[in-house]
Order: sequence, then structure tokens, then C-alpha cells
Amino acid sequence: MSRYRIPFNKPACLGHEMEYVSKSLATQHISGDGEYSKRCHSFLEDSLGVRKALLTTSCTHGLEMAALLLQIRPGDEVIVPSFTFVSSVNAFALRGAKPVFADIRPDTLNLDERQLPALITEKTRAIVLVHYAGVACEMDVIMSLARERNIAVVEDNAHGLFARYKDRNLGTFGELATLSFHETKNFTCGEGGALLINDIGLLERAEIIREKGTNRSRFFRGQVDKYTWVDLGSSYLPSDMLAAFLLAQFECASEIQARRREIWLRYDLRLRDWAALNQVQLPTVPDYVEQSYHLYYLILPSVNVRSALIQDLKQRGILSVFHYQPLHLSTMGLGFGGQLGDCPVTEDLADRLLRLPFYYALSPADQDEVIAALLAFTEWQ
Ligand SMILES: *Cc1c(COP(=O)(O)O)cnc(C)c1O
Repeated sequence: MSRYRIPFNKPACLGHEMEYVSKSLATQHISGDGEYSKRCHSFLEDSLGVRKALLTTSCTHGLEMAALLLQIRPGDEVIVPSFTFVSSVNAFALRGAKPVFADIRPDTLNLDERQLPALITEKTRAIVLVHYAGVACEMDVIMSLARERNIAVVEDNAHGLFARYKDRNLGTFGELATLSFHETKNFTCGEGGALLINDIGLLERAEIIREKGTNRSRFFRGQVDKYTWVDLGSSYLPSDMLAAFLLAQFECASEIQARRREIWLRYDLRLRDWAALNQVQLPTVPDYVEQSYHLYYLILPSVNVRSALIQDLKQRGILSVFHYQPLHLSTMGLGFGGQLGDCPVTEDLADRLLRLPFYYALSPADQDEVIAALLAFTEWQ
């Protein structure tokens, strides 16, 4: 058990998860792409308006599929924000690509689209972007630049399921997009993800890559009379028992999102004055964007204040955590030529950002306790 009375995260459990897992077991087909996987695929396709959704074993594996699908090769360059999870870049580095790190916007913490013209070269094959906290990147600018220069866009939408940019769902802009169902995300099956395919020309190879490089999906549909090894691939499909667990959560999507919205708004409303008084920056959500209520963060005045606040909350039994360390300054990032000063906004904000406890089952009383602890904090140095 955690030492924290109020943890940072608890995976949501709405009640029908285990019942669906049992039903999946009863079908005696618990490997991938069974009945529950198909229902998850339809759910995602219908609710998002994507051409095709395929469950994967993780968002990381969805990104690896994207790199294989785009035929990324050694010598190719891929533009990614420095402020993201390692998988957004590692998946492409695995294919031999050189990451080109972009800085983030100081308001939304998303890839700063104003930097793209200077980062694009003849070798740029893809832009991998992250809708941080489920708040959309500036998609109009990014998509028109990418189209003009014939560069693929991959949306790492691990945070942003059901979020929108100007009335269009995130995950429907890029040729490809990925989702995560890791236990820390809004919807979960422990470990899991999805690849969303908007460029339908990529579908046939996606099915092959996901099935160990074989045309097994076509075989099951009766389109070929035996299946064989036709391309590179791996095993990227999750057990149908995990899909069953996930479907139970999808069926409660509006309940989960409504509750998360309440929690987010309560933090935001109750912390407004306190933040202004103490030079704390709260999340920015542009008015043409609908966010996914994935996380609530503070940008504190300094790294020292952040450390003091983490300690203070810890003593009260509350776990708060920081987020991504700049990738261009990681061991691998330095190996790719990253240098201090390359992404000054990322370097600054990564040191000052703090995420507050935020999960479906966070009770109003516990949330009030977190808010009260923040209001009582005095070590502003
Ligand atoms: C969580 C996360 C991932 C990785 O997801 P997994 O499903 O654990 O592989 C990738 N990118 C971002 C932005 C994430 O937040």
C-alpha cells in the first residue's frame, strides 16, 4: 500500500470490468482480435470518426507501428517536442531516425509550431506531436505546413482521447495517431493502447505489422487461402480479456469524463486567486479547444518552491509529481547532439511543473484537502 493517503493516481474502475473479462474467458477465445477487441475498435471508430482503430499492447507499440508504417529509415529526421514521454521519440529512433527536438509553447506546453519552419529540412519525414494534458496543438498551422512540405504527422494522443480542436476530434488529423490505456490514463486496461489510421492506404500493412509480419488478418477474412510472412512486424495485439476490461470503461465514457471535468474545474476555480497572488501559472486552454481533462498541473515560480511544495504535501500524505525531463538533455538526447539551451522553454518549465492528484475516484473531501494544503503553503522563498 502507498504511504500516501491521497495518491497521485488510482485507476478508474466503473464496475463491469471483471464481468466482461469473465465473459471473454467464457468465449474460450482470449487471444487478440476477438469479440471484445472488435467492439473496442468500433467504439473508437464511431465515437472519433477515424477510418480505422486497432488496439495495441501499448501506446509505445502503436508508435512503433507508426514508425514501421511510415518506413522510417536511418538518416531520416523526425521532429518531436523535447517535453514528452520517451516513447514518442524512441519508437522512431528504433528505426534509425535522428530526433530533432522542438521547444514547447509557454502557454499550452505543446510543440511550438512557430519553430517548425526552422527545424524542417530535406530529411524531415515526420512530425510527432503530443497534445499535452489533452489540450490540442495548433493543428491548422501544423497540418498546413506538413501538407506543403509532404511530411507525415503522427499524433501521440496518449492524453487526449475525446478532446477536440475546433470541433474536430484529436487523433483524426495526422496520417496516424496513438492512444494509451496505461493505468495512469483516463481509460485503462492496465497496459494497452491503440493505433488510429486516418490514411486508409496504410491499413493493409498495419494489419500485417500488427500480426508478426504475416497476412493472417486476410486469411481469417477468407481473402487468402493460407497465411505467410510478407513484411516486417511484431506481436502488437492485446489479449481479448484486456479489450473486455477496456470496453467496460468505454461504455462509461461520459460518466468518466464528466467526473474528471468536475475535478479539473474545481481545482481551477478554487486555485485562481491563490495562483495569481503567488505567481503560479495554471493550465491554459484556448477557447477553440475542448480538452480531455487528463491532468491538472501548476507551474511554480522556481524549482526550489516546487521541491518545498512536494515535501510539504508529502508530509500531509498527499502525492504530487513532476513530469517529463527534457529529452534533448537525456543520455540518449545528448548522444543525438542535444545541448543545454536548445529548448529554453522546456528546460525552464520542466523544472517548475507539478501535477496534482487527479483520478476518477478522487472524492470532493480529498480534493478539498489537497486545495487546503496548497492554500496553507508558505515557503515561497
Ligand atoms: C503514457 C504515454 C505514452 C506511453 O503509453 P504506454 O501505453 O505506456 O506505452 C506515450 N506518450 C505519452 C505522451 C504518454 O503520456
